[in-house]
Amino acid sequence: MTGKIYGSIEGGGTKFVCAVIDEENQILVEARVATTTPEVTLESCLEFFRRQEHLLGRLTALGIACFGPLDARRSSPTYGHILETPKAGWANTDVASFFANGLGIPVGFDTDVNAAVLAESLWGAGKGLTNLVYYTIGTGIGAGAIVNGGLVHGLGHPEMGHVYLPRAAGDEAFMGVCPFHGGCFEGLASGPSMAARWGEPAESLTAEHPGWELEAGYIAMAMVGVICTLSPQRIILGGGVMGTDFLFPMIRQKTIEYLGGYIRAKAILEGLEAYIVPPGLGGRSGILGGKALAQRAVKRK
Ligand code: ZN
Repeated sequence: MTGKIYGSIEGGGTKFVCAVIDEENQILVEARVATTTPEVTLESCLEFFRRQEHLLGRLTALGIACFGPLDARRSSPTYGHILETPKAGWANTDVASFFANGLGIPVGFDTDVNAAVLAESLWGAGKGLTNLVYYTIGTGIGAGAIVNGGLVHGLGHPEMGHVYLPRAAGDEAFMGVCPFHGGCFEGLASGPSMAARWGEPAESLTAEHPGWELEAGYIAMAMVGVICTLSPQRIILGGGVMGTDFLFPMIRQKTIEYLGGYIRAKAILEGLEAYIVPPGLGGRSGILGGKALAQRAVKRK
């Protein structure tokens, strides 16, 4: 094989997807490892990459797009760790060093959503943009942001899934499902919140179900919040809940309504079809994001 190949991990609460990806973004091989204990899951991932190095050649670097909260600040003593997570057994796990030591190659590490927004900015729906936000709305709600060309790492990383939103009329009695905040954005609008509120999973609700009106309203409130805060040039919405084609037009319409004519940018006046969009990379934003993190780790070296 000629050309560089990269390892990528998309680490989630139920599975770790491992892949080897070439310079043209072709996924050469991919495997899924169940998320059990860190010892078992990380060891299985490491074995996968060792085996692939044997078959395909030396990996140039590895990128890890991981569930959080985590520490992606390189100057921090706990860089590369998953932090206090409700996911049993995973709190304070040093993920980045495990692979850096195990494979002896540069390792990049960031949140799954920061990785996804990076990949979308390089190759997807945000190509060429310097201010971009990516949300995943599914089992949980998370968001990654690029501001002035750089991923946001300040205090830690953005947690835009946990902003508080005003309650919609008629939804005041619902407690919300976030274990930390009850009725934050994730607590009110994640897939599990829809299942808890309506007694059936989001994917089984028909297009006419009132749950979608409520869902679009909460997402639109979050859109107004991020438009007013970060002034992104585009917002990408991915994740399981966004897999329904009728939801995007409802969100766009409510976002315009809630903005109240205040922001007069061309993209907003034009109706948001090209502004609030699905991922350009489909379901591959996360795994290609891992590759993008790997490439950055090489440049940094
Ligand atoms: Zn929350």
